[in-house]
Amino acid sequence: MSATVRIGPRSGTTFPLARGERLTVFDPEGGQVADLLAFNRDDVREAISNGRTLDYEETIRLTAGHRLWSNRSNVLLTIEQDSVGAHDFLLTPCSADTFRHFYPDKPVHRGCFGNLSEALAPWGIQPDAIPVAFNCFMNVPVAGDGRISVLPPLSKPGDSIAFRAERDLIIGLTACSAYASNGGSFKPIDYRIER
Ligand SMILES: [Zn+2]
Repeated sequence: MSATVRIGPRSGTTFPLARGERLTVFDPEGGQVADLLAFNRDDVREAISNGRTLDYEETIRLTAGHRLWSNRSNVLLTIEQDSVGAHDFLLTPCSADTFRHFYPDKPVHRGCFGNLSEALAPWGIQPDAIPVAFNCFMNVPVAGDGRISVLPPLSKPGDSIAFRAERDLIIGLTACSAYASNGGSFKPIDYRIER
């Protein structure tokens, strides 16, 4: 088992995850979103796809037992454990444009998109290749009339979600930078890899 690694508030990282390894993402303080990306390490043009996943899993409420599929219809990750049960796979990573759109009176931050772009560059992954992330702990209820809202996460301190890699992957992971999705404050995210 690896040590637990901390991602500081409003930042992000990348790391390899080998087939069969287990990645656990922790919300150490509660109420914090972590955007997660997965790419096939052997061909980074293959990445997680929210469209494929929602289609094949037949739900937008993904939790333990569900799988995250790629744009080539391969399973990249299986959710093995989930202590929260409320995550989002609809909304794209927050970015400088997100801040200009929703928070015109606040300082612009490069957001998860900028953090992921920088961290993925050494792997040969360009910003335009970044798909919709699986947003751990992000609380996006869908009303009966189709309207969506971004509410504070339901995660409490120490809550976690764990994934098993079904391929050799490159993972991108952030501590999200946007106001609404994190209840107005920015906290760290922890993760651990078990072999
Ligand atoms: Zn974000």
